[in-house]
Amino acid sequence: MKNLAIIGGGPIGLYTAIKLAKRGHKVTLFEKRSWPIDKVCGQGIMPSGVDNLINIGMTFTPFNSFTLNSIEYIERNSILRGNLHGPAVGTKRTELSEQLFNIASQNPHITLCPETKIDSINEKEDSYTLTIGPNILEFDFIFACDGLNSWTRKNTGHSKKRIIPSRIGARIHYDIAPWSNSVQVYWSDSIEAYVTPISNKTIEVAFLWFKDSIESGANLKSKLLSHFPLLREKLIEEKSLNDFKGYGPFDEVSSSISHKNLFFLGDAYHFLDGITGEGISLGIKASNIITDNFDNFGIKEKLKINFLYMNYWIWTHLALLMSKSPFTRKIIFFFAKRNKYLFNYILKLNDLNLALLK
Ligand SMILES: Cc1cc2nc3c(=O)[nH]c(=O)nc-3n(C[C@H](O)[C@H](O)[C@H](O)COP(=O)(O)OP(=O)(O)OC[C@H]3O[C@@H](n4cnc5c(N)ncnc54)[C@H](O)[C@@H]3O)c2cc1C
Repeated sequence: MKNLAIIGGGPIGLYTAIKLAKRGHKVTLFEKRSWPIDKVCGQGIMPSGVDNLINIGMTFTPFNSFTLNSIEYIERNSILRGNLHGPAVGTKRTELSEQLFNIASQNPHITLCPETKIDSINEKEDSYTLTIGPNILEFDFIFACDGLNSWTRKNTGHSKKRIIPSRIGARIHYDIAPWSNSVQVYWSDSIEAYVTPISNKTIEVAFLWFKDSIESGANLKSKLLSHFPLLREKLIEEKSLNDFKGYGPFDEVSSSISHKNLFFLGDAYHFLDGITGEGISLGIKASNIITDNFDNFGIKEKLKINFLYMNYWIWTHLALLMSKSPFTRKIIFFFAKRNKYLFNYILKLNDLNLALLK
């Protein structure tokens, strides 16, 4: 049994804590806020992510989520529809956070420490120490799951700048019944809007855009919506939950998944963009590779994670190219519409990519 610390109690930190505790390790999780935790996110969970979350005890019902069976890409009057290979779900981040928190808090091997500020992290020969106020705590391994702007990454010197131009995200909820069983992606130049049903009476609209393409500040929401007249027609402003929230820019990533006894997971490792809607499922897959092979984590497991993220890198860059270039969008829409089977297969492969290595 190892003494492990997790920094960050978002979905990946909590999931990793549950998996490691199930293997009999002693896990202490430090979170700077208190649960349930909200975050700007499209709130869609891919089929592989849903399966993994159900395996650790989560339940998705019509009361806490909405089942999604496809993705629709929409530009002006053109719609490209791709089927998902299994049920995906839309669910509120606070619902995801609360359920994971409840599962973790019932596990006797897990100690949850909310509202905790870690002052410093220090590497020793075969362990790490965390200083929290007057206490110095020693752990065999640290799992950094502290998100996009990872404190751990910065304080251990493992941050590196990413090369693609910065992007920003935002989201807002509406009490409007979903009009589709799909996640809808509305394209405009250098900006996209994502509509995810999260219950039978609520939808979420998330936006992602290149930092230079829209000036932030006053009336940001109206500026964003002005790019999507088709979508704006469907949204009733009085039904907005007034919880418009921005997030970003996405600027840095970790230089490697592990450094001696320190692992980076989820967005703390690598967040390129939300455009592929797979951040949670991807973080969970990487977490599985580490937690399922924790006692003999080696080069093979590192390669699997590299493969996983290479796949993410390719799809994200292709999608970003589509975002930037109307011409590329036209070509992809043209070919995908005429090769539906291939398009569905590619969508499936993207979510199931690791199956290739198993
Ligand atoms: C606009 C947008 C849309 C997206 N859409 C989707 C989608 O539809 N589907 C999908 O799967 N993914 C989506 N993503 C990505 C997804 O939100 C992330 O990949 C996911 O939240 C990563 O989870 P995480 O646990 O790694 O990080 P986070 O959810 O960011 O959690 C990190 C946690 O660490 C805590 N923390 C930070 N610093 C410290 C510290 N110093 N000490 C202790 N705790 C700390 C934070 O409070 C937080 O609770 C989207 C992202 C954006 C921006």
